[in-house]
Amino acid sequence: MIVAGNWKMFVGPEPSALAARLASIEGVDVVVAPAYTGICPCVGAGLTTYAQNVHWEPEGAYTGEVSPAMLLEAGAAGAIVGHSERRQYFGESDTAVARRARAALGAGLGVIACVGETQEERDMGDTETVLRVQVEAIGDSCGPHDRLVLAYEPVWAIGTGRTATPELAQEAHAFIKSLLDRPVLYGGSVKPDNAAELMAQPDIDGALVGGASLEIDSFASICEAAARSRS
Ligand code: PEP
Repeated sequence: MIVAGNWKMFVGPEPSALAARLASIEGVDVVVAPAYTGICPCVGAGLTTYAQNVHWEPEGAYTGEVSPAMLLEAGAAGAIVGHSERRQYFGESDTAVARRARAALGAGLGVIACVGETQEERDMGDTETVLRVQVEAIGDSCGPHDRLVLAYEPVWAIGTGRTATPELAQEAHAFIKSLLDRPVLYGGSVKPDNAAELMAQPDIDGALVGGASLEIDSFASICEAAARSRS
C-alpha cells in the first residue's frame, strides 16, 4: 500500500513532527508532496518526498519549472504528474503529462500519474473514454514501468468532500489496471473515516490525499487504515 499526501500550495505539517508520528506505522509506503520550497526540509526529516510536478527537459528557458535532475539533487524521490488542478488551471495536456512522466522515470524518479473524469464527463457516460485516453497517453509513453504508479482522482471528488463510493472507485481502478498494469491509488476527499472502506477494495492500492494530509493526525490515521487493510 502507498499513501501519498499532496500538500498543494499550503505550507503543510512540520516535517520532523510528521516523521515522528509516522515512524511506528509499518506496511505502508508513505510519500509527502510539499510545494517545491518544502522539499529539502521534508527530505531532511527523512520523509520520502515527491514534487508536485516535474518538467521533461534537464534544464532550459522554462520559467517556473523544475527538472528531474534538480529534484534528484534536492533529494526528492519522485514527482506527481497530471494532477487535475494542473490540467484544469494550467492547461496541462495528456501529451505534456506523458512527457513529464517519461522524463522523470528516465531520470530515476518515481512517478504518481493522476487521471480522472469531471462530473460532466461522468454524467455524459464518458468516464471510460476519458480514462482510456488519459491512461493510454501515459502507457504509450512510459509502459508499465516499475516506478510508475497511477492515481484515480475523479475531479468531482477532489477537495469537495464528495468521495466516490468504494464500489464506483473499485470499478474505475479495475478498468484502469486493464489498460495499464500498475498500482492505482484512489484520490478524492479521502479522510480517516472513509479510508478503510476504500482501501478494502481489491484494486485500490493506496490513497493520494489532499486536504486530510495537511494535519498530522488525520494523515497518520489514513496511513494506519492502509496498513490494516492488507494485514
Ligand atoms: C488531491 O489533491 O490530490 C486530493 C485528492 O485532494 P482532497 O483529498 O482534498 O480531495
